[in-house]
Amino acid sequence: MKKTHNYTCINCPLSCSLELTEEDGEVLEVRGADCKVGQKYAVEEFRNPRRTVSTTVRVQGGVLPLLPVVSAAPIPKALVREAVRTLAAVTVEAPVADGQVIYPDILGTGVDIIASRRLEAGVSG
Ligand code: SF4
Repeated sequence: MKKTHNYTCINCPLSCSLELTEEDGEVLEVRGADCKVGQKYAVEEFRNPRRTVSTTVRVQGGVLPLLPVVSAAPIPKALVREAVRTLAAVTVEAPVADGQVIYPDILGTGVDIIASRRLEAGVSG
């Protein structure tokens, strides 16, 4: 049975409305994309949606109590909530270098969680 799925392309400010038609999991057509990036995005959203994780972890002995962290690559969308929950329980020791691996291979995805900034040792508050 044919089904349509609607997405909004997030790859540029035009935010094209995409309509993907599939039949039994096979992509038949993508409409509404103004370029190939959007075509590809709609197919990825249908087959294997992924998102970049962006959150914070606690810091011990740093000038700030929290460190912003990000996934080095997008992970499956279905795992984002669990990844954020996992990272909520993580505490790192300052100092931290920009890009330092904070949590390797989050949830077995092969993707590392890394520091978004450097954080010096010191007293927070
Ligand atoms: S389909 Fe192309 S033009 Fe449209 S929002 Fe996506 S990247 Fe931008």
